[in-house]
Amino acid sequence: MTDRLYYDDAYLWTFEAKVTACRDTGKSREVALDRSAFYPTSGGQPYDTGVLCFGGSEARVTDVECDREGEVWHTVDREIPVGTRVTGRIDGTRRTDHMEQHAGEHMLAGAIHEQLGGTTIGLHLGAEDSSIDVELPDGRTHMTEEETARLEDTVNARIRADAPIRCWFPSEEELKTLPLRKPPTVTEHVRIVAMGDYEMVACGGTHPSSTGRIGLIRILGAVPARGKVRVSFVCGGRACRLFRDMSAWTRKAGNVLSCPPEKLAAAAGELKARLADAQRKLNRFETEEILQRIRSGESAEDLPGITLSVTVLDGAEPKPLSEAVSAYIAEDGKALLLCAGEKLTFARSPDVDIDMNELIRRVARGGGRPDLAGGAGIPECVSVARKILMTEGKGKKWRKKS
Ligand SMILES: [Zn+2]
Repeated sequence: MTDRLYYDDAYLWTFEAKVTACRDTGKSREVALDRSAFYPTSGGQPYDTGVLCFGGSEARVTDVECDREGEVWHTVDREIPVGTRVTGRIDGTRRTDHMEQHAGEHMLAGAIHEQLGGTTIGLHLGAEDSSIDVELPDGRTHMTEEETARLEDTVNARIRADAPIRCWFPSEEELKTLPLRKPPTVTEHVRIVAMGDYEMVACGGTHPSSTGRIGLIRILGAVPARGKVRVSFVCGGRACRLFRDMSAWTRKAGNVLSCPPEKLAAAAGELKARLADAQRKLNRFETEEILQRIRSGESAEDLPGITLSVTVLDGAEPKPLSEAVSAYIAEDGKALLLCAGEKLTFARSPDVDIDMNELIRRVARGGGRPDLAGGAGIPECVSVARKILMTEGKGKKWRKKS
């Protein structure tokens, strides 16, 4: 079993050890050490990275995991023989970030338990932000803004109080007396973490030496997830970086909309309303323009008794196109064979006796109703359709009897 040095000192970035075993899993080369400060992935906290130095060489540690026997295996990018003495160096920036998120989660879970009676299940420590799933006693799957603001204020006040964080392995007798937030999931070698008087729970993870070293917490959201509430948050350096990024985003957006950040929502709302109004006017204009093109494609002598328009457009927006077609066939005695870009629309007035569904199927891929059919095709399709009507419709009465 590897002697885990991070249990006693979470800030031990350099240590000496001896390689006790090597293995090749086929996918990776791994070594076990007699002692290690590298944290293996567990409890939602990801593994440490770093290097193992030996005899002037350096092997990168790219993954760390612990097996059932308590042996910590380090995935390395080069062979290190058993018995080799190594100096381990941990990426302290990565570990510090993980400790900030992990300890922040403890504080948040403790405050949720205290203020809302919620039980926290699992931690997901992501590359950007972290999240916990919370089961609330009344089965609620959301939190109000007031609740999350109060939680955030409470945790931040406790962080600023800079209370000591202590980790230890209590005796069985002592364990029974401890006011843990939830019962331990293991029965042997139970390790306890206590953060001031705010949080006490079993945990094998790495923690800062005091709450102040968490730095800051920012709750990003609380949304329903599988019958629970998923609370996402960032802590420490991540929270500072996010605040800096968000300040830059809002400043840039404010410059674009010529307003201070606090008036962004109102300015964006006003812009959206004006855009919708302008879009409506543009649609009306385009509808009118398409209708004019349809009328200019009319040829009165084509089919006796009705007016046929054969219209070819380079393209058209769907909404004005459909409104122009509807307006056109709302009049009596109209038939329309239209190609806009690669889109075909065959339509007719209710009193015209042409099956547009059948006609469009004879010249292109498409279909629809007898009075209105659509499809994909080219301008030649409307010419062919017109020829079919001209040749097969000789002597036909084109208007339905009213
Ligand atoms: Zn912990």
